[in-house]
Amino acid sequence: MANNNRKAVKVVQTAGRQQLGEFAPDFARYNDDILFGEVWSKNDVLSLHDRSIVTVSALVASGITDSSLKYHLQSAKNNGVTKEEMAEIITQLGFYGGWPKAWAAFNLAKEVYKDTAAAANTSGNETLENIMATSLFPVGGVNDNYAQYFDGTSYLNMLSLNQVVIGNVTFEPGCRNHWHIHHADKGGGQMLLVTAGRGYYQEWGKPAQELKPGDVVHIPANVKHWHGAAPNSAFQHLAIEVPGENTSSEWCEAVDLMEYNKLK
Ligand code: MN
Repeated sequence: MANNNRKAVKVVQTAGRQQLGEFAPDFARYNDDILFGEVWSKNDVLSLHDRSIVTVSALVASGITDSSLKYHLQSAKNNGVTKEEMAEIITQLGFYGGWPKAWAAFNLAKEVYKDTAAAANTSGNETLENIMATSLFPVGGVNDNYAQYFDGTSYLNMLSLNQVVIGNVTFEPGCRNHWHIHHADKGGGQMLLVTAGRGYYQEWGKPAQELKPGDVVHIPANVKHWHGAAPNSAFQHLAIEVPGENTSSEWCEAVDLMEYNKLK
């Protein structure tokens, strides 16, 4: 399941004390300290993401489609349940829990996830400064060793040289590498995990495909390709060398500037 969040997160809840502290202090204490303070905070087996799915499902199935469902839908979104996942969850709940309950839940979910849809429609452009400031993995220094194979400035930090070789590559806006081939007799190739900004991947003879954070690209061995930033956005991906036999990289010509400039 996507976005399993296994960080130890203490969930702080004060709604019980705020709303029922005077009237039912014990209920308020169980709510804040045990339900949220212990059950929700215990995420070694079930992540917050998974607990949100369980809770939303239970509320919808029980026909509870008031402000508490809205709170838990918002909480699910915060815990990494995507819009696509929520649509699947409520669709399935419709069959097991009741069609009208699914309708009611969808009406609330649409409000909660409205911002996400709007955000997804924006360009996704990022500045280099922002990517550097928010990068999960260290960005490293200017990628001098490969500069001759890049147009524009890139940054490289090798994250792993054991078992599987992984580098964190950060591109300034407009920076891309030259056409190249990851050769291998068997296995080999490369995988890209996009971590920030907006960029492109293109295979020889095919249209360039736009990349955004969360995208995974499987580059087969012996296929000529390039990857890099969009003209107006910085970009970052993890590059994973897929182990293979007799692997080597062959660097070819730069990406045609006229073709590159056609990209948004
Ligand atoms: Mn490559």
